[in-house]
Order: sequence, then structure tokens, then C-alpha cells
Amino acid sequence: MGRFHRHADGTVHAHDHDHPGHVHDHADDDHGDHSGYATASERIQVLERIFDENDAAADANRRSLDAAGVVAINLMSSPGSGKTAVLERTLAELRGRIRAGVIEGDIETGLDAERLSGLDAPVTQINTAAGWGGECHLDAPMVAGALHRLELDGLELLFIENVGNLVCPAEFDVGAHHRVMICSVTEGEDKPLKYPVMFRAVELVLINKLDLLPHLDYDLALFEHNLAEVNPDATVLRVSARTGEGLEQWYGWLLDLLRAAPTPA
Ligand code: MG
Ligand code: ZN
Repeated sequence: MGRFHRHADGTVHAHDHDHPGHVHDHADDDHGDHSGYATASERIQVLERIFDENDAAADANRRSLDAAGVVAINLMSSPGSGKTAVLERTLAELRGRIRAGVIEGDIETGLDAERLSGLDAPVTQINTAAGWGGECHLDAPMVAGALHRLELDGLELLFIENVGNLVCPAEFDVGAHHRVMICSVTEGEDKPLKYPVMFRAVELVLINKLDLLPHLDYDLALFEHNLAEVNPDATVLRVSARTGEGLEQWYGWLLDLLRAAPTPA
């Protein structure tokens, strides 16, 4: 589907204040300026219908999760930042403490779902190439299908691992309660400035692959400065999924979320 370019803050509705860390910016129209196309008005109408359908499905997903007392996290990053590696270690180390499940999003293959099997956590795979047009992001209708395959009543926490992509995953509410991203030190310090919609959409950024720092010309302070420019409210944790460094703070953050979550009626 390509770039949607909705709203400068990446949120769904111009007047919807539900999203954490929401900062208003009326500089953009909801669906961007398509005036360079002969089909401009049709494009905007289609995008509005797509987002309306998505938002209704996202609200329904959240209601199902709330009814089952499940806190859901939309986990996003570029490909290769370590989403699956972080989840692998998290599921292994929180085994017995948190009843967690995973929805794995990829365009193709079940490789990541296989990596997460055997950790006492139910995992279900969404392949966007199988019936979803090979989309480069997850949306709420896709996640709705995956939720039906999980026993939500047995879970407290659900990780939704999005398709690796720093652009459109930030623009689709999948019905999660929290949005988290991973950015590894191999990606350079400039990413928050180049992909501000993504970095603004999240409340927590995990800086991963810290163990590689001695081998890189990477300025961690500069990255954190750039991140603060686009999202001064984000919590930032420095971690290595490989060595485990910093992950106790991530686990603490997750446990705090569960403690703060309302119990289902
Ligand atoms: Mg993965
Ligand atoms: Zn996409």
C-alpha cells in the first residue's frame, strides 16, 4: 500500500487524544497532500475508508483484550533490530512470572514463530503475504484474526511483533495498549530524525545490541539527543538481547504495566 502519510504525529484521528504521547500538529492534513496525482481525491477517499475500518477493528481488538485482562504491546522496529531476539530472551527469563503470548508479524515465513516456540508461551503467526496483500505492516483486521487463535483468558501480556519497517507500522492502530520500539546501535544515530513518525508514536525505545558498541563508530549520546528532539517523553533503555545487559529494566517496565493495568470486570 505504500506510504499513507496520515498526520504528523502518526495518530489515526486528528481529534483523537487516546494515544499515549500524543502531540498535536495540525500542519498536515489527515491523509497528506496527494495533489501531485490525477487520482488525488479518490486516493484520499480510499485512505479514509481504510483507516476508518482499521480504527473500528482496533477498538474491537482492545475490547477483547480488556475483557480478558490482557495488556498488549505493539513492538516495532526496522528489520534486524532484534525484536525476536528480545522476545526470545524475555519469554525465557519471565517464564513462570508472566503468562505471555506472541503474535508474530512477517510478510513471509514462520521462522520467528519457530524461534519462540518451546518457551511456554503461545505464539501465532500472521504472514501478510497470505491473504493480506503482502503488506509491510500489521493492521487491526489482521490482528483480529490472530486474536481468535489465542486463548486470551490464559494470558496477562501479549506481544504483537510487527513487520520490520520504520514507516507504516507507526500509522496503524492494531488495538494494542502500548507501543514500543527497538532501535539497535548498528542503525546509526540519525534514525529518530529520519523516521520521526515512528519515534514519536512510542512510549519506550529499547536501544539494542549494546554489546557491539566497541566495534562501531556510534555516538550513543547523539542518538539519545536526536530521540529527545522528536520525542522528549519516551523512556529509553539501553540493552543487549545477546548478553542480557539492561534487560532487568525492561522486565521491570513490563511488570509495572501489568501492575497498573485494570482488572477485567
Ligand atoms: Mg522478528
Ligand atoms: Zn506498510
